[in-house]
Amino acid sequence: MHSKKAEESAISLESVHQGEPFLQAGSVWRGRRILSVEDQEDNRQIVRDLLTATDYEVVEARNGKEAIIAASEEPPDLILMDIQLPIMSGYDATRCIKANPALRGIPIIAVTSYALSGEDVQARAAGCDDVVAKPYSPRHLLAKIRTFLP
Ligand code: MN
Repeated sequence: MHSKKAEESAISLESVHQGEPFLQAGSVWRGRRILSVEDQEDNRQIVRDLLTATDYEVVEARNGKEAIIAASEEPPDLILMDIQLPIMSGYDATRCIKANPALRGIPIIAVTSYALSGEDVQARAAGCDDVVAKPYSPRHLLAKIRTFLP
């Protein structure tokens, strides 16, 4: 009797795991990739943690030049663009991406520094589709993302 019960529960547990979408190797990717451009590891981690709980896939770049390369090689569905970046700023990276006909349709959300006034205006002038100011609440950032990728 005991062994029968154990067998039954083992089988049902296995079927639960088989039906678990996150464990299926061949599950269909929904095509919602977000490129997170940010030079500070702590901030990249915040975005990573936030988006890991969603069905968005995250790829990362640490400066404007890396952002352009990443966007060209595997165009994302949305870009979160920090503005203050080494090597190439978020303004220049945005201008470059928006100047490329193959990439200009990708929405870019600028993540601007709270302290620097005027950064949001400049970000929009550079071609950013929207702006989120630091420090942002994760909920607010996710809501912004969802306006472009519902
Ligand atoms: Mn930065």
